[in-house]
Amino acid sequence: MSGPAVSRIVLLPELVKNQIAAGEVIERPASALKELIENALDADARHIEIDLAEGGVSLVRVKDDGLGMGAADLELAFASHATSKLREVADLDHIATLGFRGEALASIGSVARVRLISRERGTLHGAEIHNEGGNVSAAREAGASEGTTLEVRDLFFNTPARRRFLKTTATELGRCLDVIQRLALANPGVGFVATHDGRRLFDVEAGMNLRERVRRTFGAELSQALAPVEARDGSLRLSGFVAPPRLARNDSARQMWFLNGRPLRDKILTRVLKDAYRGFLIEGRQPVAFLALSMDPAQVDVNVHPAKSEVRFRDERRLFGFLVHHLREALRTTDMSTPGEALLERAVRREGSFAPLRDDSTAALRWSTGSEPAVGPRELPIVREVGGGPLPAGVARALPPAQAPADAPVMQIAKTFIVRALADGFEILDQHALHERITFEGLKRDLERHEIETQRLLLPEVVELSRVQVGLAEEHKQALEALGIHVAAFGATSVAIHGLPARLKRADPASLVRDVLELIEERGAAPNSEKVLEEVLHRAACRSSVMAGDALSEPEMRALLAQGAGIESDQTCVHARPTRVRFTLADLEKAFHRR
Ligand code: ADP
Ligand code: MG
Repeated sequence: MSGPAVSRIVLLPELVKNQIAAGEVIERPASALKELIENALDADARHIEIDLAEGGVSLVRVKDDGLGMGAADLELAFASHATSKLREVADLDHIATLGFRGEALASIGSVARVRLISRERGTLHGAEIHNEGGNVSAAREAGASEGTTLEVRDLFFNTPARRRFLKTTATELGRCLDVIQRLALANPGVGFVATHDGRRLFDVEAGMNLRERVRRTFGAELSQALAPVEARDGSLRLSGFVAPPRLARNDSARQMWFLNGRPLRDKILTRVLKDAYRGFLIEGRQPVAFLALSMDPAQVDVNVHPAKSEVRFRDERRLFGFLVHHLREALRTTDMSTPGEALLERAVRREGSFAPLRDDSTAALRWSTGSEPAVGPRELPIVREVGGGPLPAGVARALPPAQAPADAPVMQIAKTFIVRALADGFEILDQHALHERITFEGLKRDLERHEIETQRLLLPEVVELSRVQVGLAEEHKQALEALGIHVAAFGATSVAIHGLPARLKRADPASLVRDVLELIEERGAAPNSEKVLEEVLHRAACRSSVMAGDALSEPEMRALLAQGAGIESDQTCVHARPTRVRFTLADLEKAFHRR
Protein backbone atom coordinates (compact mmCIF):
# COMPACT_ATOMS: atom_id res chain seq x y z
CA MET A 1 0.00 0.00 0.00
CA SER A 2 1.22 3.49 -0.74
CA GLY A 3 0.09 7.08 -0.21
CA PRO A 4 -0.78 8.86 3.00
CA ALA A 5 -2.34 6.77 5.69
CA VAL A 6 -6.03 7.64 5.87
CA SER A 7 -7.74 6.44 8.96
CA ARG A 8 -11.02 4.72 8.23
CA ILE A 9 -12.14 4.91 11.81
CA VAL A 10 -13.61 8.29 12.81
CA LEU A 11 -15.21 9.57 15.96
CA LEU A 12 -18.93 10.10 15.45
CA PRO A 13 -20.26 13.63 15.69
CA GLU A 14 -22.23 14.38 18.86
CA LEU A 15 -25.58 14.52 17.03
CA VAL A 16 -25.10 11.10 15.47
CA LYS A 17 -24.12 9.66 18.86
CA ASN A 18 -27.25 11.07 20.40
CA GLN A 19 -29.45 9.75 17.64
CA ILE A 20 -27.96 6.31 18.08
CA ALA A 21 -28.63 6.51 21.81
CA ALA A 22 -32.15 7.66 21.00
CA GLY A 23 -32.54 4.50 18.94
CA GLU A 24 -31.99 2.47 22.09
CA VAL A 25 -34.35 4.20 24.45
CA ILE A 26 -36.67 6.48 22.46
CA GLU A 27 -38.64 4.16 20.24
CA ARG A 28 -41.94 5.96 20.30
CA PRO A 29 -43.83 8.75 22.07
CA ALA A 30 -44.46 6.50 25.06
CA SER A 31 -40.75 6.03 25.66
CA ALA A 32 -40.10 9.78 25.59
CA LEU A 33 -43.04 10.23 27.93
CA LYS A 34 -41.64 7.64 30.32
CA GLU A 35 -38.29 9.42 30.50
CA LEU A 36 -39.93 12.78 31.14
CA ILE A 37 -42.19 11.48 33.90
CA GLU A 38 -39.27 9.70 35.51
CA ASN A 39 -37.30 12.94 35.49
CA ALA A 40 -40.19 14.71 37.18
CA LEU A 41 -40.37 11.98 39.83
CA ASP A 42 -36.61 12.17 40.38
CA ALA A 43 -37.04 15.92 40.87
CA ASP A 44 -39.39 15.20 43.76
CA ALA A 45 -42.57 16.36 42.01
CA ARG A 46 -45.87 16.00 43.90
CA HIS A 47 -48.02 16.78 40.94
CA ILE A 48 -47.45 15.96 37.28
CA GLU A 49 -49.50 17.21 34.35
CA ILE A 50 -49.28 15.46 31.02
CA ASP A 51 -50.67 16.71 27.72
CA LEU A 52 -50.55 14.65 24.57
CA ALA A 53 -51.60 15.33 21.00
CA GLU A 54 -51.99 12.79 18.20
CA GLY A 55 -51.01 9.87 20.37
CA GLY A 56 -47.96 11.84 21.53
CA VAL A 57 -46.45 12.08 18.04
CA SER A 58 -47.09 15.79 17.62
CA LEU A 59 -46.89 16.66 21.33
CA VAL A 60 -45.78 15.21 24.63
CA ARG A 61 -45.74 17.79 27.41
CA VAL A 62 -44.87 17.03 31.01
CA LYS A 63 -45.17 19.74 33.62
CA ASP A 64 -44.05 19.15 37.19
CA ASP A 65 -43.80 21.04 40.47
CA GLY A 66 -40.44 19.54 41.36
CA LEU A 67 -37.03 21.00 42.22
CA GLY A 68 -36.55 22.70 38.86
CA MET A 69 -33.27 23.74 37.32
CA GLY A 70 -31.25 26.93 37.33
CA ALA A 71 -30.33 28.66 34.06
CA ALA A 72 -26.81 27.20 34.12
CA ASP A 73 -28.18 23.67 34.37
CA LEU A 74 -30.54 24.17 31.45
CA GLU A 75 -27.73 24.13 28.92
CA LEU A 76 -26.19 21.04 30.45
CA ALA A 77 -29.49 19.18 30.58
CA PHE A 78 -29.29 18.51 26.82
CA ALA A 79 -25.65 17.44 26.81
CA SER A 80 -25.20 13.69 26.61
CA HIS A 81 -23.99 11.93 29.72
CA ALA A 82 -24.90 15.01 31.70
CA THR A 83 -26.73 14.12 34.87
CA SER A 84 -27.18 15.50 38.35
CA LYS A 85 -27.76 12.00 39.70
CA LEU A 86 -24.36 10.32 39.58
CA ARG A 87 -20.93 11.69 40.38
CA GLU A 88 -18.55 8.77 40.32
CA VAL A 89 -18.31 5.10 39.49
CA ALA A 90 -19.03 4.05 43.07
CA ASP A 91 -22.45 5.72 42.81
CA LEU A 92 -23.47 3.07 40.28
CA ASP A 93 -23.70 0.61 43.16
CA HIS A 94 -26.57 2.30 44.91
CA ILE A 95 -28.77 4.09 42.44
CA ALA A 96 -31.86 5.48 44.11
CA THR A 97 -33.15 7.61 41.23
CA LEU A 98 -35.07 6.49 38.16
CA GLY A 99 -32.58 8.14 35.81
CA PHE A 100 -28.78 8.19 35.99
CA ARG A 101 -27.43 7.79 32.47
CA GLY A 102 -27.88 11.42 31.52
CA GLU A 103 -28.91 10.38 28.04
CA ALA A 104 -32.65 10.85 27.80
CA LEU A 105 -32.89 14.58 27.18
CA ALA A 106 -29.95 14.58 24.76
CA SER A 107 -31.54 11.68 22.86
CA ILE A 108 -35.00 13.20 22.74
CA GLY A 109 -33.58 16.57 21.70
CA SER A 110 -31.73 14.95 18.80
CA VAL A 111 -34.94 13.61 17.25
CA ALA A 112 -37.62 16.20 18.12
CA ARG A 113 -38.30 19.88 18.74
CA VAL A 114 -37.99 20.34 22.47
CA ARG A 115 -38.69 23.29 24.72
CA LEU A 116 -37.55 23.20 28.31
CA ILE A 117 -38.79 25.78 30.81
CA SER A 118 -37.80 25.62 34.43
CA ARG A 119 -37.66 27.58 37.64
CA GLU A 120 -35.63 26.28 40.52
CA ARG A 121 -37.46 25.98 43.82
CA GLY A 122 -36.97 29.05 45.96
CA THR A 123 -35.75 31.30 43.13
CA LEU A 124 -37.59 34.18 41.50
CA HIS A 125 -36.91 33.74 37.81
CA GLY A 126 -37.36 30.97 35.36
CA ALA A 127 -35.50 30.30 32.13
CA GLU A 128 -36.13 28.47 28.91
CA ILE A 129 -34.07 26.74 26.27
CA HIS A 130 -34.81 25.01 22.95
CA ASN A 131 -33.36 22.01 21.24
CA GLU A 132 -34.39 21.45 17.61
CA GLY A 133 -33.06 18.11 16.45
CA GLY A 134 -29.77 18.67 18.23
CA ASN A 135 -29.43 22.45 17.75
CA VAL A 136 -29.47 23.84 21.25
CA SER A 137 -30.33 27.52 21.74
CA ALA A 138 -28.89 29.73 24.47
CA ALA A 139 -30.90 29.79 27.70
CA ARG A 140 -32.90 32.95 28.28
CA GLU A 141 -35.02 34.26 31.08
CA ALA A 142 -38.69 33.33 30.95
CA GLY A 143 -41.71 33.52 33.20
CA ALA A 144 -42.37 30.17 34.85
CA SER A 145 -43.84 28.66 37.97
CA GLU A 146 -41.63 26.58 40.24
CA GLY A 147 -40.82 23.29 38.61
CA THR A 148 -40.16 22.15 35.08
CA THR A 149 -42.06 21.86 31.83
CA LEU A 150 -40.73 19.78 28.98
CA GLU A 151 -42.47 20.01 25.67
CA VAL A 152 -41.59 17.52 22.95
CA ARG A 153 -43.06 18.26 19.52
CA ASP A 154 -42.89 16.41 16.21
CA LEU A 155 -41.03 13.35 17.37
CA PHE A 156 -38.72 11.94 14.67
CA PHE A 157 -39.29 14.97 12.38
CA ASN A 158 -35.66 14.65 11.23
CA THR A 159 -35.48 10.86 11.14
CA PRO A 160 -38.25 9.87 8.69
CA ALA A 161 -37.27 6.21 8.73
CA ARG A 162 -38.05 6.04 12.44
CA ARG A 163 -41.21 7.98 12.03
CA ARG A 164 -42.53 5.39 9.62
CA PHE A 165 -42.37 2.77 12.34
CA LEU A 166 -44.93 4.58 14.44
CA LYS A 167 -48.33 2.94 14.66
CA THR A 168 -51.79 4.46 14.58
CA THR A 169 -52.68 7.31 16.93
CA ALA A 170 -54.81 4.92 18.98
CA THR A 171 -51.95 2.45 19.41
CA GLU A 172 -49.40 5.09 20.37
CA LEU A 173 -51.90 6.67 22.74
CA GLY A 174 -52.58 3.27 24.32
CA ARG A 175 -48.87 2.85 25.01
CA CYS A 176 -48.65 6.34 26.51
CA LEU A 177 -51.61 5.62 28.75
CA ASP A 178 -49.99 2.38 29.89
CA VAL A 179 -46.83 4.28 30.85
CA ILE A 180 -48.83 6.88 32.77
CA GLN A 181 -50.90 4.29 34.61
CA ARG A 182 -47.94 2.15 35.58
CA LEU A 183 -45.99 5.12 36.89
CA ALA A 184 -49.07 6.42 38.69
CA LEU A 185 -49.58 3.02 40.35
CA ALA A 186 -45.89 2.88 41.23
CA ASN A 187 -45.91 6.27 42.93
CA PRO A 188 -48.77 6.78 45.38
CA GLY A 189 -48.26 10.23 46.86
CA VAL A 190 -47.87 11.85 43.47
CA GLY A 191 -50.85 13.31 41.61
CA PHE A 192 -51.20 12.76 37.86
CA VAL A 193 -53.48 14.47 35.36
CA ALA A 194 -53.28 13.55 31.70
CA THR A 195 -55.10 14.89 28.64
CA HIS A 196 -55.13 13.87 25.01
CA ASP A 197 -56.10 16.36 22.30
CA GLY A 198 -57.55 18.49 25.08
CA ARG A 199 -59.70 15.76 26.58
CA ARG A 200 -59.18 14.25 30.03
CA LEU A 201 -57.47 10.88 29.73
CA PHE A 202 -56.60 9.82 33.27
CA ASP A 203 -56.12 11.33 36.68
CA VAL A 204 -55.30 10.39 40.24
CA GLU A 205 -54.99 12.74 43.17
CA ALA A 206 -51.80 12.82 45.21
CA GLY A 207 -53.59 11.48 48.30
CA MET A 208 -54.95 8.32 46.65
CA ASN A 209 -53.44 5.06 47.86
CA LEU A 210 -52.64 2.03 45.72
CA ARG A 211 -56.05 0.37 46.08
CA GLU A 212 -57.78 3.61 45.10
CA ARG A 213 -55.45 3.96 42.15
CA VAL A 214 -56.23 0.43 41.00
CA ARG A 215 -59.89 1.27 41.29
CA ARG A 216 -59.47 4.41 39.18
CA THR A 217 -57.42 2.52 36.62
CA PHE A 218 -59.16 -0.86 36.36
CA GLY A 219 -62.48 -0.47 38.13
CA ALA A 220 -64.19 -1.27 41.40
CA GLU A 221 -64.66 -5.00 40.89
CA LEU A 222 -60.97 -5.66 40.74
CA SER A 223 -59.99 -3.24 43.47
CA GLN A 224 -62.54 -4.71 45.89
CA ALA A 225 -61.40 -8.27 45.34
CA LEU A 226 -57.74 -7.55 46.10
CA ALA A 227 -56.11 -9.03 49.17
CA PRO A 228 -53.35 -7.03 50.82
CA VAL A 229 -49.76 -8.26 51.16
CA GLU A 230 -47.39 -6.74 53.66
CA ALA A 231 -44.06 -8.21 54.72
CA ARG A 232 -40.56 -7.24 55.73
CA ASP A 233 -37.15 -8.85 55.77
CA GLY A 234 -34.43 -6.53 56.98
CA SER A 235 -34.38 -3.52 54.68
CA LEU A 236 -36.57 -5.33 52.16
CA ARG A 237 -40.24 -4.51 52.21
CA LEU A 238 -43.02 -6.04 50.14
CA SER A 239 -46.40 -4.37 49.99
CA GLY A 240 -49.33 -4.36 47.63
CA PHE A 241 -52.19 -6.57 46.57
CA VAL A 242 -52.93 -9.91 44.96
CA ALA A 243 -56.16 -10.71 43.14
CA PRO A 244 -58.03 -14.01 43.52
CA PRO A 245 -57.26 -16.56 40.80
CA ARG A 246 -60.64 -16.18 39.14
CA LEU A 247 -59.61 -12.69 38.00
CA ALA A 248 -56.55 -14.00 36.18
CA ARG A 249 -56.14 -13.06 32.54
CA ASN A 250 -54.66 -14.35 29.32
CA ASP A 251 -52.09 -11.54 29.31
CA SER A 252 -49.92 -10.09 32.02
CA ALA A 253 -51.10 -6.48 31.59
CA ARG A 254 -52.36 -6.35 35.16
CA GLN A 255 -49.35 -7.89 36.74
CA MET A 256 -47.24 -5.09 38.04
CA TRP A 257 -44.10 -4.97 40.09
CA PHE A 258 -42.57 -1.76 41.33
CA LEU A 259 -39.12 -1.47 42.78
CA ASN A 260 -38.41 1.70 44.70
CA GLY A 261 -41.01 3.47 42.53
CA ARG A 262 -39.76 1.94 39.27
CA PRO A 263 -42.12 -0.27 37.26
CA LEU A 264 -40.32 -3.46 36.36
CA ARG A 265 -40.74 -6.31 33.95
CA ASP A 266 -38.48 -8.82 35.48
CA LYS A 267 -38.31 -12.53 34.72
CA ILE A 268 -37.62 -13.49 38.30
CA LEU A 269 -40.59 -11.57 39.60
CA THR A 270 -42.81 -13.11 36.95
CA ARG A 271 -41.68 -16.52 38.16
CA VAL A 272 -42.33 -15.53 41.75
CA LEU A 273 -45.97 -14.89 40.93
CA LYS A 274 -46.26 -18.08 38.96
CA ASP A 275 -44.96 -20.02 41.93
CA ALA A 276 -47.15 -18.20 44.40
CA TYR A 277 -50.25 -19.08 42.37
CA ARG A 278 -49.17 -22.65 41.68
CA GLY A 279 -52.09 -25.00 42.12
CA PHE A 280 -54.58 -22.15 42.25
CA LEU A 281 -54.46 -21.11 38.64
CA ILE A 282 -55.41 -22.84 35.43
CA GLU A 283 -52.40 -23.46 33.17
CA GLY A 284 -51.61 -20.51 30.94
CA ARG A 285 -53.56 -17.90 32.90
CA GLN A 286 -51.71 -14.89 34.29
CA PRO A 287 -52.27 -13.72 37.86
CA VAL A 288 -53.28 -10.14 38.58
CA ALA A 289 -51.22 -8.41 41.25
CA PHE A 290 -49.83 -4.99 42.13
CA LEU A 291 -46.72 -5.28 44.22
CA ALA A 292 -44.20 -2.79 45.45
CA LEU A 293 -40.76 -3.73 46.66
CA SER A 294 -38.61 -1.33 48.47
CA MET A 295 -35.06 -2.24 49.25
CA ASP A 296 -31.67 -0.80 49.83
CA PRO A 297 -30.47 0.38 46.39
CA ALA A 298 -27.18 -1.41 47.05
CA GLN A 299 -29.02 -4.75 46.94
CA VAL A 300 -29.99 -4.42 43.31
CA ASP A 301 -28.32 -3.49 40.04
CA VAL A 302 -30.57 -1.37 37.85
CA ASN A 303 -27.88 -0.68 35.29
CA VAL A 304 -28.59 -3.79 33.21
CA HIS A 305 -30.82 -2.51 30.47
CA PRO A 306 -30.94 0.89 28.69
CA ALA A 307 -34.65 1.29 29.34
CA LYS A 308 -33.99 0.22 32.95
CA SER A 309 -36.98 -2.11 32.99
CA GLU A 310 -34.90 -5.11 34.04
CA VAL A 311 -32.73 -5.37 37.09
CA ARG A 312 -30.48 -7.84 38.82
CA PHE A 313 -30.98 -8.73 42.47
CA ARG A 314 -28.02 -9.49 44.67
CA ASP A 315 -29.49 -12.21 46.90
CA GLU A 316 -31.89 -13.70 44.42
CA ARG A 317 -32.68 -17.01 46.10
CA ARG A 318 -33.51 -15.55 49.44
CA LEU A 319 -35.65 -12.87 47.82
CA PHE A 320 -37.48 -15.51 45.80
CA GLY A 321 -38.34 -17.62 48.83
CA PHE A 322 -39.45 -14.63 50.85
CA LEU A 323 -41.72 -13.30 48.13
CA VAL A 324 -43.36 -16.60 47.21
CA HIS A 325 -44.09 -17.38 50.84
CA HIS A 326 -45.78 -14.09 51.63
CA LEU A 327 -47.68 -13.85 48.37
CA ARG A 328 -49.05 -17.35 48.84
CA GLU A 329 -50.15 -16.51 52.35
CA ALA A 330 -52.02 -13.48 51.08
CA LEU A 331 -53.48 -15.37 48.18
CA ARG A 332 -55.03 -17.93 50.52
CA THR A 333 -57.09 -15.19 52.10
CA THR A 334 -58.77 -14.32 48.80
CA ASP A 335 -62.12 -15.80 47.93
CA MET A 336 -61.54 -18.47 45.33
CA SER A 337 -65.03 -19.90 45.12
CA THR A 338 -67.11 -19.26 42.06
CA PRO A 339 -69.40 -16.47 43.18
CA GLY A 340 -73.00 -17.57 42.89
CA GLU A 341 -73.72 -13.93 42.16
CA ALA A 342 -72.08 -14.31 38.77
CA LEU A 343 -74.16 -17.34 37.86
CA LEU A 344 -77.34 -15.68 38.98
CA GLU A 345 -76.59 -12.44 37.20
CA ARG A 346 -75.98 -14.33 34.05
CA ALA A 347 -79.17 -16.30 34.32
CA VAL A 348 -81.13 -13.17 35.04
CA ARG A 349 -79.47 -11.34 32.21
CA ARG A 350 -80.51 -14.03 29.77
CA GLU A 351 -84.09 -13.48 30.76
CA GLY A 352 -83.56 -9.86 29.82
CA SER A 353 -84.90 -8.45 33.06
CA PHE A 354 -81.62 -6.72 33.96
CA ALA A 355 -79.75 -4.12 31.98
CA PRO A 356 -76.84 -5.75 30.15
CA LEU A 357 -73.68 -5.86 32.18
CA ARG A 358 -70.50 -4.47 30.78
CA ASP A 359 -68.59 -7.17 28.97
CA ASP A 360 -64.97 -6.89 29.81
CA SER A 361 -61.79 -8.81 29.26
CA THR A 362 -61.51 -9.15 33.02
CA ALA A 363 -64.16 -11.84 32.72
CA ALA A 364 -63.20 -13.99 35.59
CA LEU A 365 -63.66 -17.46 34.27
CA ARG A 366 -63.87 -19.03 30.91
CA TRP A 367 -66.75 -21.39 31.07
CA SER A 368 -67.09 -23.05 27.76
CA THR A 369 -64.96 -20.75 25.65
CA GLY A 370 -61.39 -22.07 25.61
CA SER A 371 -60.41 -25.52 24.40
CA GLU A 372 -60.08 -26.59 27.99
CA PRO A 373 -63.22 -25.61 29.85
CA ALA A 374 -62.63 -24.01 33.23
CA VAL A 375 -65.27 -26.19 34.76
CA GLY A 376 -66.36 -29.34 33.03
CA PRO A 377 -70.02 -30.13 32.72
CA ARG A 378 -69.63 -33.25 34.83
CA GLU A 379 -68.34 -31.32 37.76
CA LEU A 380 -70.76 -28.45 37.56
CA PRO A 381 -73.94 -29.00 35.57
CA ILE A 382 -75.24 -25.70 36.84
CA VAL A 383 -72.85 -23.99 34.48
CA ARG A 384 -74.47 -25.46 31.45
CA GLU A 385 -77.83 -24.20 32.48
CA VAL A 386 -76.74 -20.62 32.66
CA GLY A 387 -75.06 -20.65 29.29
CA GLY A 388 -71.57 -20.33 27.88
CA GLY A 389 -69.40 -17.36 27.04
CA PRO A 390 -67.30 -15.24 29.35
CA LEU A 391 -68.78 -14.05 32.58
CA PRO A 392 -69.49 -10.39 33.15
CA ALA A 393 -66.94 -8.36 35.02
CA GLY A 394 -69.17 -7.83 38.03
CA VAL A 395 -68.14 -11.00 39.74
CA ALA A 396 -65.36 -9.88 42.00
CA ARG A 397 -66.02 -9.53 45.67
CA ALA A 398 -63.67 -9.46 48.56
CA LEU A 399 -64.87 -12.24 50.81
CA PRO A 400 -62.67 -14.35 52.97
CA PRO A 401 -63.04 -18.08 52.44
CA ALA A 402 -66.36 -18.80 54.12
CA GLN A 403 -66.49 -20.08 57.65
CA ALA A 404 -69.35 -22.39 58.44
CA PRO A 405 -70.33 -23.30 61.99
CA ALA A 406 -69.43 -26.92 62.74
CA ASP A 407 -73.06 -27.93 63.04
CA ALA A 408 -74.23 -26.13 59.88
CA PRO A 409 -76.71 -28.30 57.98
CA VAL A 410 -75.27 -30.28 55.07
CA MET A 411 -76.94 -32.39 52.41
CA GLN A 412 -75.97 -34.33 49.35
CA ILE A 413 -77.46 -33.64 45.94
CA ALA A 414 -77.51 -36.26 43.18
CA LYS A 415 -74.75 -38.17 45.01
CA THR A 416 -72.39 -35.62 43.51
CA PHE A 417 -72.60 -32.30 45.32
CA ILE A 418 -72.61 -31.29 48.93
CA VAL A 419 -74.67 -28.30 49.94
CA ARG A 420 -73.71 -26.59 53.15
CA ALA A 421 -75.40 -23.72 54.92
CA LEU A 422 -73.19 -20.75 55.79
CA ALA A 423 -73.88 -17.99 58.24
CA ASP A 424 -74.68 -15.75 55.28
CA GLY A 425 -75.88 -17.95 52.41
CA PHE A 426 -74.86 -21.41 51.28
CA GLU A 427 -72.29 -23.17 49.16
CA ILE A 428 -72.31 -26.11 46.81
CA LEU A 429 -69.22 -28.27 46.78
CA ASP A 430 -68.07 -30.83 44.28
CA GLN A 431 -67.43 -33.86 46.50
CA HIS A 432 -64.95 -35.51 44.16
CA ALA A 433 -62.88 -32.39 43.45
CA LEU A 434 -62.71 -31.62 47.15
CA HIS A 435 -61.73 -35.12 48.25
CA GLU A 436 -59.19 -35.37 45.48
CA ARG A 437 -57.51 -32.17 46.59
CA ILE A 438 -57.37 -33.37 50.18
CA THR A 439 -55.85 -36.72 49.22
CA PHE A 440 -53.41 -35.07 46.84
CA GLU A 441 -52.18 -32.63 49.48
CA GLY A 442 -51.81 -35.51 51.94
CA LEU A 443 -49.73 -37.57 49.53
CA LYS A 444 -47.58 -34.58 48.70
CA ARG A 445 -46.93 -33.86 52.34
CA ASP A 446 -46.09 -37.50 53.12
CA LEU A 447 -43.67 -37.50 50.24
CA GLU A 448 -41.98 -34.27 51.27
CA ARG A 449 -41.48 -35.68 54.75
CA HIS A 450 -40.45 -39.11 53.42
CA GLU A 451 -43.33 -40.56 55.37
CA ILE A 452 -45.18 -42.52 52.76
CA GLU A 453 -46.55 -45.56 54.51
CA THR A 454 -47.33 -48.64 52.48
CA GLN A 455 -50.32 -50.82 53.08
CA ARG A 456 -49.54 -54.39 51.99
CA LEU A 457 -52.41 -56.07 50.16
CA LEU A 458 -53.46 -59.34 51.81
CA LEU A 459 -53.91 -60.87 48.38
CA PRO A 460 -51.82 -59.37 45.61
CA GLU A 461 -54.02 -58.01 42.86
CA VAL A 462 -53.10 -58.83 39.29
CA VAL A 463 -53.54 -56.24 36.50
CA GLU A 464 -53.35 -56.85 32.79
CA LEU A 465 -51.06 -54.36 31.03
CA SER A 466 -49.19 -54.01 27.77
CA ARG A 467 -45.72 -55.52 27.45
CA VAL A 468 -44.24 -52.05 27.34
CA GLN A 469 -45.97 -51.09 30.55
CA VAL A 470 -44.83 -54.22 32.33
CA GLY A 471 -41.31 -53.31 31.22
CA LEU A 472 -41.74 -49.81 32.61
CA ALA A 473 -43.05 -51.18 35.90
CA GLU A 474 -39.85 -53.23 36.24
CA GLU A 475 -37.62 -50.38 35.15
CA HIS A 476 -39.13 -47.92 37.64
CA LYS A 477 -39.75 -50.41 40.43
CA GLN A 478 -37.75 -48.49 43.00
CA ALA A 479 -39.11 -45.11 42.08
CA LEU A 480 -42.64 -46.51 42.37
CA GLU A 481 -41.84 -48.00 45.75
CA ALA A 482 -40.62 -44.63 46.93
CA LEU A 483 -44.14 -43.45 46.20
CA GLY A 484 -45.63 -46.37 48.11
CA ILE A 485 -46.63 -48.38 45.04
CA HIS A 486 -45.27 -51.93 45.16
CA VAL A 487 -45.60 -54.01 42.00
CA ALA A 488 -43.83 -57.03 40.51
CA ALA A 489 -43.98 -58.45 37.01
CA PHE A 490 -46.36 -61.40 36.80
CA GLY A 491 -45.88 -62.88 33.39
CA ALA A 492 -45.24 -60.88 30.23
CA THR A 493 -48.44 -58.84 30.23
CA SER A 494 -49.42 -58.43 33.85
CA VAL A 495 -48.10 -57.20 37.17
CA ALA A 496 -49.06 -58.12 40.70
CA ILE A 497 -49.78 -55.25 43.07
CA HIS A 498 -48.44 -55.97 46.54
CA GLY A 499 -48.92 -52.68 48.26
CA LEU A 500 -50.25 -49.14 47.93
CA PRO A 501 -49.88 -45.97 50.00
CA ALA A 502 -51.84 -46.48 53.19
CA ARG A 503 -53.39 -43.06 52.79
CA LEU A 504 -55.28 -44.24 49.70
CA LYS A 505 -58.01 -46.04 51.59
CA ARG A 506 -60.60 -46.14 48.87
CA ALA A 507 -58.20 -46.94 46.07
CA ASP A 508 -59.07 -49.29 43.27
CA PRO A 509 -55.56 -50.75 42.90
CA ALA A 510 -55.87 -51.92 39.31
CA SER A 511 -57.02 -48.64 37.81
CA LEU A 512 -54.55 -46.68 39.94
CA VAL A 513 -51.57 -48.70 38.75
CA ARG A 514 -52.80 -48.69 35.17
CA ASP A 515 -53.19 -44.89 35.27
CA VAL A 516 -49.75 -44.32 36.68
CA LEU A 517 -48.05 -46.61 34.16
CA GLU A 518 -49.93 -45.04 31.28
CA LEU A 519 -48.68 -41.68 32.42
CA ILE A 520 -45.10 -42.87 32.63
CA GLU A 521 -45.43 -44.30 29.13
CA GLU A 522 -47.04 -41.17 27.65
CA ARG A 523 -44.53 -38.75 29.10
CA GLY A 524 -41.49 -40.97 28.89
CA ALA A 525 -40.42 -39.93 32.37
CA ALA A 526 -39.78 -41.63 35.70
CA PRO A 527 -42.76 -41.50 38.11
CA ASN A 528 -40.84 -39.48 40.67
CA SER A 529 -39.34 -37.02 38.19
CA GLU A 530 -40.36 -33.44 38.55
CA LYS A 531 -42.04 -33.61 35.17
CA VAL A 532 -44.70 -36.13 36.13
CA LEU A 533 -44.69 -36.40 39.91
CA GLU A 534 -47.60 -34.03 40.52
CA GLU A 535 -49.61 -35.74 37.85
CA VAL A 536 -48.84 -39.18 39.29
CA LEU A 537 -50.02 -38.03 42.71
CA HIS A 538 -53.05 -36.45 41.13
CA ARG A 539 -54.06 -39.65 39.36
CA ALA A 540 -53.48 -41.65 42.51
CA ALA A 541 -55.58 -39.16 44.45
CA CYS A 542 -58.27 -39.23 41.80
CA ARG A 543 -58.51 -43.01 41.87
CA SER A 544 -58.93 -43.18 45.60
CA SER A 545 -61.36 -40.32 46.14
CA VAL A 546 -65.10 -40.38 46.40
CA MET A 547 -66.59 -40.16 42.96
CA ALA A 548 -69.60 -38.44 41.58
CA GLY A 549 -72.29 -41.02 42.24
CA ASP A 550 -70.98 -42.19 45.63
CA ALA A 551 -73.59 -41.80 48.32
CA LEU A 552 -72.19 -40.12 51.43
CA SER A 553 -73.65 -40.21 54.91
CA GLU A 554 -73.86 -37.03 56.92
CA PRO A 555 -70.86 -37.95 59.09
CA GLU A 556 -68.88 -38.72 55.95
CA MET A 557 -69.73 -35.35 54.46
CA ARG A 558 -68.78 -33.61 57.68
CA ALA A 559 -65.51 -35.50 57.87
CA LEU A 560 -64.69 -34.49 54.32
CA LEU A 561 -65.43 -30.81 54.98
CA ALA A 562 -63.38 -30.88 58.16
CA GLN A 563 -60.41 -32.43 56.38
CA GLY A 564 -60.69 -29.74 53.72
CA ALA A 565 -60.50 -27.05 56.36
CA GLY A 566 -57.24 -28.58 57.56
CA ILE A 567 -55.24 -28.30 54.33
CA GLU A 568 -53.54 -25.30 52.77
CA SER A 569 -56.43 -24.59 50.48
CA ASP A 570 -59.46 -26.67 49.72
CA GLN A 571 -60.88 -23.93 47.54
CA THR A 572 -59.62 -25.30 44.25
CA CYS A 573 -59.21 -28.79 42.84
CA VAL A 574 -55.80 -30.14 41.83
CA HIS A 575 -56.17 -28.53 38.42
CA ALA A 576 -57.08 -25.21 39.97
CA ARG A 577 -60.77 -25.22 39.24
CA PRO A 578 -62.91 -23.97 42.10
CA THR A 579 -64.28 -26.74 44.31
CA ARG A 580 -67.33 -24.72 45.22
CA VAL A 581 -69.92 -22.19 44.20
CA ARG A 582 -71.06 -19.83 46.90
CA PHE A 583 -74.26 -17.85 47.18
CA THR A 584 -74.52 -15.06 49.67
CA LEU A 585 -77.66 -13.60 51.08
CA ALA A 586 -77.06 -10.57 48.88
CA ASP A 587 -76.95 -12.80 45.79
CA LEU A 588 -80.26 -14.36 46.69
CA GLU A 589 -81.90 -11.02 47.42
CA LYS A 590 -80.77 -9.80 44.05
CA ALA A 591 -82.02 -12.88 42.26
CA PHE A 592 -85.44 -12.45 43.84
CA HIS A 593 -85.44 -8.70 43.11
CA ARG A 594 -85.59 -7.87 46.78
CA ARG A 595 -82.92 -5.20 46.40
P1 ADP B 1 -30.84 11.47 33.87
O1 ADP B 1 -32.27 11.48 34.28
O2 ADP B 1 -30.37 10.11 33.54
O3 ADP B 1 -29.94 12.20 34.80
P2 ADP B 1 -31.77 13.06 31.65
O4 ADP B 1 -31.21 13.30 30.31
O5 ADP B 1 -33.11 12.43 31.74
O6 ADP B 1 -30.72 12.22 32.47
O7 ADP B 1 -31.79 14.43 32.43
C1 ADP B 1 -30.59 15.16 32.56
C2 ADP B 1 -30.60 16.02 33.80
O8 ADP B 1 -31.54 17.08 33.63
C3 ADP B 1 -31.04 15.31 35.05
O9 ADP B 1 -29.95 14.66 35.69
C4 ADP B 1 -31.59 16.44 35.88
O10 ADP B 1 -30.56 17.10 36.58
C5 ADP B 1 -32.13 17.40 34.86
N1 ADP B 1 -33.58 17.28 34.71
C6 ADP B 1 -34.25 16.66 33.70
N2 ADP B 1 -35.58 16.74 33.87
C7 ADP B 1 -35.78 17.44 35.01
C8 ADP B 1 -36.95 17.85 35.74
N3 ADP B 1 -38.20 17.55 35.32
N4 ADP B 1 -36.76 18.55 36.88
C9 ADP B 1 -35.53 18.83 37.35
N5 ADP B 1 -34.39 18.47 36.70
C10 ADP B 1 -34.51 17.77 35.54
MG1 MG C 1 -33.86 10.91 33.09
